[in-house]
Amino acid sequence: MSLFFKKLNNAGMWEKIQKLRELIKAEKYFKKRTCWNCGKELNIYDFLSDNVNFTPEYILKLWQTPFLELHCCECFRYLKIHEIKKIEKELSERKCLNCDTPIDIYKFSKFHSYLKIHELKALWLDKNFLVFCNNLCQRKYYKTYYYFLKKEN
Ligand SMILES: [Zn+2]
Ligand SMILES: [Zn+2]
Repeated sequence: MSLFFKKLNNAGMWEKIQKLRELIKAEKYFKKRTCWNCGKELNIYDFLSDNVNFTPEYILKLWQTPFLELHCCECFRYLKIHEIKKIEKELSERKCLNCDTPIDIYKFSKFHSYLKIHELKALWLDKNFLVFCNNLCQRKYYKTYYYFLKKEN
């Protein structure tokens, strides 16, 4: 996610927090949540800021769902790295389509931080999925590609 996009989201974050606060007040039984992995108490506002694309209504609904297991940021990061290591064993490196620089799965996961781990794995192992160092390389590649198409016609 680009920095600009994150900033854009922050502007709406305050309103989301306010809305969530009202929703919680109206809730008869508000669940106390702990991380299923380490037992640390969780904060619903952290949960909201980790999932900026969800509405406050949806956040509260998820939070109140009895059988859903949530985890804290530290455990999430740890579990994600653990999963990424498994993917690395299957395929450790790919190359940027534009500049041929080798890219590892860690860099790839940072570039696509919005992806869930199974989505990340599917794309990384998909030979048809175009891999780039960064947005600049991606843009350069498509520019050349479109230029090439134009020349063809
Ligand atoms: Zn935890
Ligand atoms: Zn590149």
